[in-house]
Amino acid sequence: MTIWYLSEYHVPDKTENIFWGWIMDMRIGGKEVSSPDDTWIEVKNPATGELIDRVPAGSAADVAEAVTAAGEAFESWRKKGMRERGMVLFHAAEKVREQHKDLARLLTLEQGKPLREAIDEVRGYANILEYYAGISAQPAGETVRLGIAGDALVVREPVGVCGAIIPWNMPVLIMGWKTGPALLAGNTLVLKPASTTPLTNLRLAAILDSAGLPPGVLNVVTGRGGEVGEALVKHPEIKKISFTGNCVTGRRIRELASANLKNLTLELGGSDPMIVMDDADIDNAVDGALRGRFYNAGQTCTAVKRLYVHDRIADEFVQKLKARISVMNVGNGLGPKTDMGPLNSAEQREKILRMVDGTRERGEGNILVGGGVLRGKAYETGYFYHPTLVTGVVPDSCLVTEELFGPVLPVMAVPDLDAAIRAANTSRYGLGASVWTKNMHTAKRVFDEVNAGMIWVNRHLTVPPEVPFGGNQESGIGRENGYHALDPYTRTKTLFLGW
Ligand code: NDP
Repeated sequence: MTIWYLSEYHVPDKTENIFWGWIMDMRIGGKEVSSPDDTWIEVKNPATGELIDRVPAGSAADVAEAVTAAGEAFESWRKKGMRERGMVLFHAAEKVREQHKDLARLLTLEQGKPLREAIDEVRGYANILEYYAGISAQPAGETVRLGIAGDALVVREPVGVCGAIIPWNMPVLIMGWKTGPALLAGNTLVLKPASTTPLTNLRLAAILDSAGLPPGVLNVVTGRGGEVGEALVKHPEIKKISFTGNCVTGRRIRELASANLKNLTLELGGSDPMIVMDDADIDNAVDGALRGRFYNAGQTCTAVKRLYVHDRIADEFVQKLKARISVMNVGNGLGPKTDMGPLNSAEQREKILRMVDGTRERGEGNILVGGGVLRGKAYETGYFYHPTLVTGVVPDSCLVTEELFGPVLPVMAVPDLDAAIRAANTSRYGLGASVWTKNMHTAKRVFDEVNAGMIWVNRHLTVPPEVPFGGNQESGIGRENGYHALDPYTRTKTLFLGW
């Protein structure tokens, strides 16, 4: 494995000695680079603003070197049996489970989410590797009988060297969505982490290495999107790119990739509606809205971003929601009682501030709770934002029309299901949607009529590895997770047999 990695580690608190083991791992498994002082990327703790570490800001030359390493490793990796490749994933999953506490702590330090959520995410990564290891024994081709023309044997073969570009909001889970199917199918990979969250990705790459992944099969190049990300997309030897991130970047990648007709999976943004009908279990729906909106400080693509509640229960629903939001414990993700951590960066918080302040100034909604940064000593240096509830939001407010990637929940009352479905379908996104009801016909109508890749009934947000994940319209192209996620990492090859 080729890994471009940190050569220095800042330990903010000497008790956090978990890091020493990880430095050693990387020095054994990786390749050290010397980076001139002006080409490092600093990784900061979003809860405190403190420097945690720095990673090299890689270049197009580093990408080219990683692609060469991946190209050299491809032939022998693809010739291994699927089960053998699956065993590597399985061993890696075991190691991830053994080390889940350290990995989760590192994720919280660089991303900001509460430790409990980081543990979920790390375990989710192990689940994904196990899922793909588990399906490695299934047949991967078909036979077609052609009568007098003979028979045809259709096999699936890996596409070659692939590129994976990871965002900062769920860096561990999304690394799993890309590495699991890509590696199982026999491809080799060059992976670029997000610049604010490269550390856990690097650590996971080292674990895959120690689980038996041959050198060159997985390569991590840290660096900025405009440099390393674009170099990856443009590289002629990269056959497929899987990208998760925002729509603007997704469009840019599509444009660049069209030059050499690369196969693309684009998992972009979302603006998921949650519809609560008047027969819903209100307390259950309030729980769902809280978790759906404020998990990961609202920085989840499938978060509840618009809430449509039936007129008849709107007041009760909003009062219950307000009471729960008002007592949420916001703080450092490492704190034992933290319900919600900071946003990942000053830039993300700035975006939310602009959207909510603009709504307030234009009178486009009533802010019932929150609506600004948190004040007080504990919040001074981190990127905290108050969990926020906004009611009576007008349909063309940016809180409804844009992707709201932070802890702000706009609530709109609707007179009936028709109005709720119409409102849900006004978005240019189409990732997920949920309906909260006891009536199966209501649920079926939402399933049939709301334009989204995933519909939940009486829940929101769960994304198990067994089922396809992805959206319609501007939420992206293609699906990840599930058996069919192997398709874009393979192509068919047909053998015609004339007996
Ligand atoms: P970005 O698109 O800015 O970044 C995502 C990744 O792309 C990062 O690694 C980034 O690198 C890299 N990148 C940035 N510019 C380029 C470029 N020109 N060429 C190639 N790579 C580039 O997204 P955000 O960081 O803003 O991520 C949050 C967004 O992702 C949200 O909009 C969210 O909805 C969406 N998302 C969608 C998901 C889905 O599955 N539908 C899942 C998770 C998030 P760097 O960090 O160096 O800038």
